[in-house]
Amino acid sequence: MRRSIYGEDHEAFRETVRAFIARSVAPRAEEFIERRLIDRDVWREAGKQGLLGLEVPEVHGGGEAGDYRFNAVLGEELSHVSAALASGFAIHYDIVAPYLVELTTEEQKRRWLPRFAAGELITAIGMTEPGGGSDLAALATTAVRDGDDWVINGSKTFITNGYQADLVIVAARTSPEKKAKGITLFAVEAGTTGFERGRKLDKVGQPEADTAELFFKDVRVPDANRVGEVDRGFIAMMERLPQERLSCAVSNVAHASAVLDETLAYVKERKAFGQPIGGFQYNKFTLADLVTRLDVSRAYVDQCVEAHARRELSAVDAAKAKLWTSEVQNEVIDACVQLFGGYGYMREYRVARAWMDARVTRIWAGSNEIMREIIGRDLGL
Ligand SMILES: Cc1cc2nc3c(=O)[nH]c(=O)nc-3n(C[C@H](O)[C@H](O)[C@H](O)COP(=O)(O)OP(=O)(O)OC[C@H]3O[C@@H](n4cnc5c(N)ncnc54)[C@H](O)[C@@H]3O)c2cc1C
Repeated sequence: MRRSIYGEDHEAFRETVRAFIARSVAPRAEEFIERRLIDRDVWREAGKQGLLGLEVPEVHGGGEAGDYRFNAVLGEELSHVSAALASGFAIHYDIVAPYLVELTTEEQKRRWLPRFAAGELITAIGMTEPGGGSDLAALATTAVRDGDDWVINGSKTFITNGYQADLVIVAARTSPEKKAKGITLFAVEAGTTGFERGRKLDKVGQPEADTAELFFKDVRVPDANRVGEVDRGFIAMMERLPQERLSCAVSNVAHASAVLDETLAYVKERKAFGQPIGGFQYNKFTLADLVTRLDVSRAYVDQCVEAHARRELSAVDAAKAKLWTSEVQNEVIDACVQLFGGYGYMREYRVARAWMDARVTRIWAGSNEIMREIIGRDLGL
């Protein structure tokens, strides 16, 4: 089915992204997996190509696209290469960007955004803590006012880009008695005394996305590093989580599509009992189901992307997109592993890596159980 959400400008941008990937990413994909991070050169190159500042105002060095469809194109193309690449970059251009663009003062914008858009200031966001991620309102990291500063104590875990980040948005409790209404966001910069990174976490998949624990011991940040109003951090996160979940949904569909395309090529070549394995009715029907599931999922996500470009996407619809596409992605890639037979279980095959990379999408950005909570609550239950 022809997709109708993208126009000529989006497709031209897609070509720019593809050229960037072919030149700067694809030849080094194995290296990033081995080193378990995406090299800073690639971040700077992405910045030069105008990929990181889509949401950043032109006066601060960005492209100010003002149209979420460009974010979606970038997410799709990165996800075609690897889910980890997409998640590492998306945390920056798609998830942190709205915080730094919408909640910051002019002085903060001048300080951070030009380097953000240039790929010189890699960013991360720290919400989840060792004690729990689903119940964000219960987070335990504290920030206590001391003169013109805030003193932060606590820790975060599973933070994407955490190991390399130059700036981390940290959610901390500023009013202990107020639960959700007592959380504030701070920008903590690399090199601040007391801000330490733990080990780079050893994940089941997505090795090239650096994921780390972060520790804050009497970390003193000036009030000038507060992002948004005091005690309004929880609301700021809730307002921006739909974009994060849509970003995940776009990536889920694109990642699964790329793996399915490779699988289709494989089943036409690979023979058993003297015929291509894709020709067996069982496999043909399996693939027919997978393609249908993905096409239908893409149609829903496209509607969400358009709605978000019009600033009309609801938190519930974003939750449905994240829930559905992460389940479909896992089903599709699992079936692809099966179709590859033993090779599907070998790490050197993309399908095996994709299978490991995909599993987390049912857990992160709000687990699928939390998505069901949001959708169920909307039903009045
Ligand atoms: C690779 C990776 C990258 C990540 N990147 C980031 C990042 O950049 N920044 C960040 O802040 N976080 C990040 N996360 C954290 C992620 O968002 C959390 O793991 C997720 O929100 C779940 O929190 P938790 O792990 O503490 O699980 P818990 O909250 O302990 O939940 C455990 C289980 O209980 C279930 N559960 C919890 N509450 C309910 C309920 N009410 N009803 C039913 N079931 C429930 C959950 O669904 C889950 O299955 C990342 C995680 C991973 C694995």
